[in-house]
Amino acid sequence: MSKYDEVVHYQDFDELMEIIKKSNNNYDLKKIQKAYNIAEKAHGDQRRISGIPFILHPTSVACIIAGWGMDTDSILAAILHDVVEDTDYTTDFVRKEFSKDVANIVDGVTKISKIKLYSREEQQAENVRKMLIAMSNDIRVIIVKLADRLHNMRTIECMPEQKRRDKSRENMEVFAPIAHRLGMTAVKEELEDLSLRYLDPVAYNEIEQTLLLKEGERDKFIERKKKEIVKASKMNHNKISVYGRVKSINSIYRKTYLRNKTIDQIYDFFALRIIVDEIKDCYNILGVIHDLYTPIPNRFKDYISTPKPNMYQSLHTTVIDNEGIPFEVQIRTWEMHNTAENGIAAHWKYKLGFTKILNNKKARELDENINRIKDVLAAQIDTDDNTDIIRNIRNDFAQREVYVFSPKGDVFNLPEGGTVIDLAYLIHTEVGNHMVGAKVDKRIVPIDYKLNTGEICEILTQKDSHPRRDWIEICKTSSARSKIRQWFKREKRDENIIEGKTMLERELKHSNIVLDDKQLEELLKFMLKKNKFNTVEDLYASIGYGGIQLWKVMPRIREEYNTKFKDEDEAPATAANKPQHRKSSIKSGVVVEGMEDCLIKFSHCCNPLPGDEIIGYITRGFGVSIHKRNCPNIPVDISNAEEPERYVNVRWEDEVQDSFHSTLEIICVDRTGLLADVTIALSSMRIFIHTLNSRQINNGQAVVTATIEVQNREHLDTVIKRLEAIRDVISIRRF
Ligand code: MN
Repeated sequence: MSKYDEVVHYQDFDELMEIIKKSNNNYDLKKIQKAYNIAEKAHGDQRRISGIPFILHPTSVACIIAGWGMDTDSILAAILHDVVEDTDYTTDFVRKEFSKDVANIVDGVTKISKIKLYSREEQQAENVRKMLIAMSNDIRVIIVKLADRLHNMRTIECMPEQKRRDKSRENMEVFAPIAHRLGMTAVKEELEDLSLRYLDPVAYNEIEQTLLLKEGERDKFIERKKKEIVKASKMNHNKISVYGRVKSINSIYRKTYLRNKTIDQIYDFFALRIIVDEIKDCYNILGVIHDLYTPIPNRFKDYISTPKPNMYQSLHTTVIDNEGIPFEVQIRTWEMHNTAENGIAAHWKYKLGFTKILNNKKARELDENINRIKDVLAAQIDTDDNTDIIRNIRNDFAQREVYVFSPKGDVFNLPEGGTVIDLAYLIHTEVGNHMVGAKVDKRIVPIDYKLNTGEICEILTQKDSHPRRDWIEICKTSSARSKIRQWFKREKRDENIIEGKTMLERELKHSNIVLDDKQLEELLKFMLKKNKFNTVEDLYASIGYGGIQLWKVMPRIREEYNTKFKDEDEAPATAANKPQHRKSSIKSGVVVEGMEDCLIKFSHCCNPLPGDEIIGYITRGFGVSIHKRNCPNIPVDISNAEEPERYVNVRWEDEVQDSFHSTLEIICVDRTGLLADVTIALSSMRIFIHTLNSRQINNGQAVVTATIEVQNREHLDTVIKRLEAIRDVISIRRF
């Protein structure tokens, strides 16, 4: 049984009232009843795809929201969140009946729902931007949206497969990172696990099974540790709670499947969580733990004195007991626990309780935290470049941190891999803009030095010094990048225009496009409009300071060139000396996904040949270079690569000519390794696999469903024959 199996899927209004009554918050019951009456009438006899009355969806979302301790407005918005989208009611109506705030939240949630988040990267970025704008007005928008998404994921089983996968991908790429940023760990983990279930069902089931097998072992272990710790702490049993912590399936997945480790190799497979009443007890317990067991060096982290940016607080340590079993321990107070699980949502809970006392310091702190998160969001919206937003969300929102000290002892936290440039800009924009170098632990370090936790770093500045253009590539955080760009944008406009124009001309030359200034302006017209620039100089300047990145826009420019200028170019007079490699993408026989007619270069390190599994890498200025997928220069796990967005899917052009999808159902004896055999058989025939699932049916049999790409009927028959030859396959039929 999975830890999510106990989650109730649908809750009605009575259950909502129960949750509300049990809470200590002062809710406006009259308004909540009124919202329910409106929603019930509005949704009428609408039903969900599963056949369940629609009204149970908003009431369930409201239950989640109430469970997090959110305020009346949020609960009203949750009840009404689909009213504007799915029925004749308008936001104006909500404003009149309730308040501006409630209408805004409903409006925001409705807008987010209309945004298609999973699409081509650039489009996706624009959409994420829209979403961030919608939520930056009022953070409650995203909190209600997260509850809505969570409930939809809990009940997505009856949706079509494609829809489940799309939603799951959206969760992994957008919603889970946002939940993480807001500190809502419970939501993040549940969204990730529910999504993994559809994205990689085989792995999901395998991990779930393993966890199940280890459950008994784990329970006994935890019981033992609990006794030892409580006894050694000499604390009253009521004052200390010790729990076994089950890691989320997705986190185990990431550690095992993506890093090629087995479950036994995960350090903190066994994990304990100890919750106490007061902060001083946290440190006392830590001492007790370190007395009882042997701590593993470098694994102790004090997030109490230095909270994570998403407000998370706890002590972490990993120890080995006398039997040699390593396990992780988290120690925290109940208040920290609530924040760790519910993040920013927990703040409303405290806020509701605290604001009764005017000028309470705590309430102010909470407001500051909420504002800080708003700032982060606002910074995302300000970026010039759309695709940056996606990168920022991935980088800034889901990253480990290092902590470094200034010589005076101030603590700064940076994402892992953060350089001294990042630190300089984190300290102050002016410090960054005047940096000449840095000292780490009193020694001069190069400017691209990556800082490590615990280092003392001093930034050296000089009054007349200024940033260098290549810093943009060196630094890790988006805030440093955008500040450097800002500087170039402001201080160096003339220089930027020249630099930008030169860069663009160089790039065009690589594509064999030579134009005079007038033609160039004509060609770039479409870019001005798209980026809201008034003159072509603005465009050059933006390229110059790095606001627009050429490698991202060149495919579009070439496309534009082809439609605008190519015809003249192909007039008989010039046809003879027409450059050869304009059509290189066609000649090369390689198709780059999402890009037409781009410059292709075969890499010399691995010399890919037709038939090899290949991948593309967008180079700086030389088009897309094609590597074998297993080339040593290509990371095994792209998603963990330095700049994952530079890798693109490519395929051999004639390889999948006239191909079509076919879904096969393979009935077989349920045994381990069978799915692997099927996969190996398919890939040995160079069959492209779209989806591959397996599930158990009765009497020891399993059915493997595979959607594959084949060239024609004959080809499919060959494939089926080959699959039938696998041991334990009983029958195969086309779906
Ligand atoms: Mn909904």
